[in-house]
Amino acid sequence: MSQNIMNKYYRNTYAEINLENIYKNYQSIQSLVNGKIVIPVVKANAYGHGVFEVVEYLVDKGVNYFAVSLLEEALELKEKFKNIEILVMGVVDRTQFKIASKNNITITISNFDQLKKIDDFSSPLKVHLKIDSGMNRLGFKKEDEIISSFNILKNHNTIKLEGIYTHFSTADGDKKYYDMQLNRFELIVKLLDYDFKMIHASNSSSMIKYEKEINFTTHTRLGISLYGLTLDSETKFLNNTYKLISHISEIKHLEPGDKVGYGAVYTALEKEIIGILPIGYADGFIRQNQDGFVEIKNKRYRIIGRICMDQMFIKIDDHVSINDKVILFGGLISIDEVAERLDTINYEIICQITYRVPKIYIK
Ligand SMILES: *Cc1c(COP(=O)(O)O)cnc(C)c1O
Repeated sequence: MSQNIMNKYYRNTYAEINLENIYKNYQSIQSLVNGKIVIPVVKANAYGHGVFEVVEYLVDKGVNYFAVSLLEEALELKEKFKNIEILVMGVVDRTQFKIASKNNITITISNFDQLKKIDDFSSPLKVHLKIDSGMNRLGFKKEDEIISSFNILKNHNTIKLEGIYTHFSTADGDKKYYDMQLNRFELIVKLLDYDFKMIHASNSSSMIKYEKEINFTTHTRLGISLYGLTLDSETKFLNNTYKLISHISEIKHLEPGDKVGYGAVYTALEKEIIGILPIGYADGFIRQNQDGFVEIKNKRYRIIGRICMDQMFIKIDDHVSINDKVILFGGLISIDEVAERLDTINYEIICQITYRVPKIYIK
């Protein structure tokens, strides 16, 4: 496999995406949700994994409903995969409703601006009503607002009110706030007393923990854990899907006192060997990774000096040779470890790798 990679990618820096593990994660989580349908969330280029490849693989396995954030993301997918259903979870302006209806894309209705005089469509527009149960992001919040938006949608000739959903703000922490949101959402669903085809609430962390206890929903929305990650790193049953890989492109032998890279912030105290990697912050391996670690042949090596736009430095030893494979994360150095060092969440680590890093797929 890696021979092919060498031929294909001249720089020898790439992300290795494991599609098989994505599907394994999907199946493991499917088994936790009491037979409800798990909707893969593939926004943001499938959390950096490459949306066409991920969707194609899952479609082959029989998955046919996906969720994204933007109308643009949905249109791109629809062009390639005519027969899948897609829900856009972000705000779609009412001036764009026609595009959604024409392309059979399901949109979310979350505010009254979207409901100002909606004309008829030539093909019905499928919508989900978004309830703000406590996150205070998108959705109708007050009971009277929920009822009047519901009535507008229900009574419109060419709108098909297909679903209702909410989103949790604290599925990873405050159980009390989570319970409050869930109860509010359940009350609203009961109050509307309508034959929704799809009722959904949970994202990855809440579905793994609590979906089994919920009996009034029909679907769940699976994002980060499809990609083997969770918010609280307590879930060890998932498989890694993303490895960032480069190779040693040059080796330097330093004398005591030699300095390394921009700002000359690293000084060799003795005779040292360093390796240069052809990857930098323009690839999304940001400068704050300075002083972190990479993996070579199952061993940790320290990142030294400032990370440049296209290159970086690591301190190596004489067990390392030119062209040796270096795993920046997704192996011994987990994505969670990198996230913790950068004081952020795993989501951001995989989303920030840029277009310049090619992806290779393991199927
Ligand atoms: C991104 C998103 C999800 C998926 O969340 P994860 O934590 O990645 O599982 C679900 N629902 C909505 C509304 C989202 O925006």
